[in-house]
Amino acid sequence: MGDLRPVHEDLVDMLHSCADLGQAWVVVQGRRMALVVPAPCGGYRFAAGYYKATIVQAALTGLVELGPVVPAHDRPVYTGGGLRWADRDFTARTITLPSAVPPAPVRPVRVDGMAPGSEEWMAAMTASKIAAVMGLSSYDSRRSVWEKMAGNLPSEPPTKNKTRGHYLEGGVAAWWMDRHPEYAVLPGGTWQHPEDSWMVATPDRRLVPMCECDTHLAEGCCDAVDCDPCCSQCPTCPALDRAPVALLELKTDADGSEWGRGVDEIPVGIRCQVLWQMVVLGVREVHVAVLSSYLEMREYVITWDQEEIDALIAEAADFRLSLHYGEPPELDGDKHTYAALRRTHPHLDPKKEITLTDDQAREVLAAKKAEQEGLEHWNLARSRLTELMGDAGKAKWGEDVVAYRRARKGVMPWVETPKNLPPVEAIQPASDEPLDWGMGVAS
Ligand SMILES: [Zn+2]
Ligand SMILES: [Zn+2]
Ligand SMILES: [Zn+2]
Repeated sequence: MGDLRPVHEDLVDMLHSCADLGQAWVVVQGRRMALVVPAPCGGYRFAAGYYKATIVQAALTGLVELGPVVPAHDRPVYTGGGLRWADRDFTARTITLPSAVPPAPVRPVRVDGMAPGSEEWMAAMTASKIAAVMGLSSYDSRRSVWEKMAGNLPSEPPTKNKTRGHYLEGGVAAWWMDRHPEYAVLPGGTWQHPEDSWMVATPDRRLVPMCECDTHLAEGCCDAVDCDPCCSQCPTCPALDRAPVALLELKTDADGSEWGRGVDEIPVGIRCQVLWQMVVLGVREVHVAVLSSYLEMREYVITWDQEEIDALIAEAADFRLSLHYGEPPELDGDKHTYAALRRTHPHLDPKKEITLTDDQAREVLAAKKAEQEGLEHWNLARSRLTELMGDAGKAKWGEDVVAYRRARKGVMPWVETPKNLPPVEAIQPASDEPLDWGMGVAS
């Protein structure tokens, strides 16, 4: 198969999909064609290769012509008329398939019943999780967000920072609104992407351009009884239901060191978050206001970036597959990974022992020795030990105890080492091969 090109739109009626494994097809000249792709489906959140296989399969049957390359559409919404994917093995391409539904306007779906922290919420790809999926969050690692989305971790009570943000949000919003009379500010709400309910965002506020009639009342413009708008452009009239043109995200950050002086220099994790909000809500711009260090107010504007958004979507698609197949991301040295694993291994039998192989023990000792240089080594080692030890209380190398799991009431079991560890030099490396942690454990 050579260069992949779009399917001629007269020949493909519609791309169908369903939530079951392998049940996806295209309709070609009125006939449904089964496809051979063993991937779960549900929209463009398939593995990127899915569409390739779909189109290849259709093309091989001779029923579909490959037409000319269509330029990438620049719409921020993903309509049935344009499926876009970014593939890390190929360059980003667009295939255009005509939709049975008129493509525009596509509005996101309001789902305010989906409470943050609920099971449904945990399973959804929200704007706050996408940064962790990218490995760019300060609040979660890839592994910890995976465990949460897989339903392996109970939801946590809000952190101090989140609670503080909740109280200060209104003040930051008032400051920003005073500086931007050109916008009316609507409540945020919880939203699903119009074509993919898995994609969720909860922006802090939505922004609608202010009308110019001069009679609009910021609060309660429309009468509850007759809903009389100030003018045909009233930004807040529920009957007019004007679509937001931008969003407003409100932050507090006492440290503030990650916020730059440029108009879009915000922490990268928050950048992921607001780009995801754009995709879900179908807007091209997010304003970010932050109450920063020394109580300084700053504001930023982030605009649609197709390449970055393609990367987020491709990564989210892979992540969704890994959840579907129950294959967690590899362990890493992130403290959030270790914290998540402690919570997924709550049981402890102090008398139970496991025996480490030479390589495993050597890694523990080396990581412990390197702890002064950098915590990552030790975080990774104790995450591995947590998985390896299960509910055991001791990990031994020969006669020596190399690690304990301990617990206190109200505190999840943690991994620690005894005072007198054998020196790492005591263990001869078996080979130059990299250490393999999964093997050779006898309990
Ligand atoms: Zn009005
Ligand atoms: Zn009204
Ligand atoms: Zn007006």
